[in-house]
Amino acid sequence: MPARYFVETPITGDRAVLAAAEAHHLAHVMRARAGDEVTLFDGSGFDFSARIERIGRSEVELSITSRTAVDHELPIELTLAVALPKGDRQAWLVEKATELGVTRLVPLVTERGVAQPVEKALVRLRRTVIEASKQCGRARLMQVAEPRSIAEIVVAAEATAERIIAHVDGAALPPGARAPGASVIAAVGPEGGWTDAELAIAAEHGWFVTSLGPRTLRVETAAIALAVLIAAS
Ligand code: SAH
Repeated sequence: MPARYFVETPITGDRAVLAAAEAHHLAHVMRARAGDEVTLFDGSGFDFSARIERIGRSEVELSITSRTAVDHELPIELTLAVALPKGDRQAWLVEKATELGVTRLVPLVTERGVAQPVEKALVRLRRTVIEASKQCGRARLMQVAEPRSIAEIVVAAEATAERIIAHVDGAALPPGARAPGASVIAAVGPEGGWTDAELAIAAEHGWFVTSLGPRTLRVETAAIALAVLIAAS
């Protein structure tokens, strides 16, 4: 698979500049030279063919030779709201969610949650999204939203969206026939579980409380299993 490089600034004209880690990777790891052809993406849904014009100390300048619309997104808009686990398991979850086509990840702030996501962690997670997108061929980035509580999400969720909350004591998820363009929002709680109040607010607002089987899953397993179930139906 040809390497793809992410450009932070949306590509609007016939020039692009790679900076920071992407420039370093291209210039020093891949040892690219002026004249080499590479593929760029900027998260807008296109892949751009580009030729390296100049390799600077910390940036690489390129000219755009063509652009191709790339649609590797799900037919539905899928938001995952997850009480993120710590460390490597958090990065794993973000990588897999990106690969599976999740539209948006909302880090959940929960009463029993351990890792309250700070801005530095969000920046790191957005970097993980870029790395996973380069690898899996997505031309749109999974959005990593600002942290929210389940109450905030319940209030903000559109009534037209299908709303699902995962809980060990829930009911099996009925097979859905989701129309293209449908919005689905799914929430997964922390290792310590939801409090009664958190579950109640979702249930009262029409969220479907779903089980993922009789075993207690890790947060990241539950999140990925739920994303697969929804995306596949
Ligand atoms: N002891 C906790 C377990 C939490 S597991 C409890 O009793 O709730 C972390 C999160 O993963 C849960 O809040 C839930 O959203 C999800 N989860 C884990 N296993 C699940 C299962 N079998 N069915 C549905 N959701 C599950």
